[in-house]
Amino acid sequence: MSRILLMHPILDPGPQILAEAAEVIAYPAGGPLDEASIRQAAEGCVGIVSQLMDPIRETVLSTPGLKCVSNVAVGFDNIDVAAATAHKVMVTNTPGVLDDATSDFAFTLLMTTARRVVEADHFIRSGQFHGWAIDMMLGQDIYGATLGIIGIGRIGRGVAHRAKGFNMRILYYDPQPLPQEAEEQLGATRVDLNRLIAESDFISVHVPLTPETQHLISTPQFNAMKRNAILVNTSRGPVIDEAALVEALNAKKLAGAGLDVYEREPAVHPHLIPMANVVLAPHIASATVRTRSEMSAMAARNMATAVRGGRPPNLLNPEVKR
Ligand code: NAD
Repeated sequence: MSRILLMHPILDPGPQILAEAAEVIAYPAGGPLDEASIRQAAEGCVGIVSQLMDPIRETVLSTPGLKCVSNVAVGFDNIDVAAATAHKVMVTNTPGVLDDATSDFAFTLLMTTARRVVEADHFIRSGQFHGWAIDMMLGQDIYGATLGIIGIGRIGRGVAHRAKGFNMRILYYDPQPLPQEAEEQLGATRVDLNRLIAESDFISVHVPLTPETQHLISTPQFNAMKRNAILVNTSRGPVIDEAALVEALNAKKLAGAGLDVYEREPAVHPHLIPMANVVLAPHIASATVRTRSEMSAMAARNMATAVRGGRPPNLLNPEVKR
């Protein structure tokens, strides 16, 4: 029976789907996540079920007999897809099933930051609430504000749908324009990045991490933001220059930030920790029971199909399997 390496546990029904297709070898819990260790564990395996913290690059992809890497995520910046293609290794991801959970969470961060919910909760729990006051915990209006969406793919569009219900003016920046019908339906206007930055009260980032999007938001962008702007990031940490964000927040160049992802995850820039106008989440945008289960099933089905010699439904490098 073929062997596959499961880097981290996945949720039901993923394990059953994998077990029906192959012998599953579990990577040691808490084991080192460097390429050499993963390569060693992958010897003799036809597949690896990976997650975003697993570096799957040349060293791993050159493992003899390796046929498929199935990432339990829609983002695949942890995998060198070009090297996989060169070694004829299929790479798959889990698009679509996490759109609603992730869009909901981007909106949750937007609202929580704008209305200072985390700060308010701490205020109560630390015994500081002694009665209503007209100037207590003043936040930013959401209804009717301008939202700038950077990257209007599956999740960016989901955020736009939600924003429509809040009567927001929607600007977006994406090299791929939406079809005219979708623009009209969402009430979204395509603009360049400079205009989006300059006019938005809220900026929500939904691009993949690529060499082009690394530090897409850095000092020049922070300098051009409205002083009341709130930045939300549920994409990947390195899209935002975290040191520049800290500087900009200290200089009050923007009003706050809602972050799910970090430049050096799981490390968080220490200066962000005490900032009351920053809401920090531990990379949980897709973390609902249903979504994580569907991601697990989808990743397992991709792997099972590859192991059986088929073409996985979510193949990122179709040139490997004609
Ligand atoms: P998608 O491919 O459907 O959409 C990405 C969009 O970004 C596309 O429309 C693309 O044209 C656009 N884009 C690419 N480069 C750009 C650039 N330089 N400037 C502006 N736009 C650019 O992807 P998706 O399914 O919407 O997911 C987006 C990203 O969100 C994923 O790649 C992943 O990294 C991240 N994500 C994070 C979580 C989380 O748990 N925090 C969950 C799901 C997805």
